[in-house]
Amino acid sequence: MPVYDYVCLDCHKTFELVLSLNEHDNDVPKCPECGSTNVEQEAAAFFAVTSKKS
Ligand SMILES: [Zn+2]
Repeated sequence: MPVYDYVCLDCHKTFELVLSLNEHDNDVPKCPECGSTNVEQEAAAFFAVTSKKS
């Protein structure tokens, strides 16, 4: 299951959410710190892991 990194634009806290693709498409992520939905998704850890091939 992919892990999504978000940063809250209101309190600048970063947090992770583990969501199914369906949840990711349908749910509005909320900051666990201040409850704001004014959040921005950062690069997904899911992709960071798969790109780490050396
Ligand atoms: Zn916040």
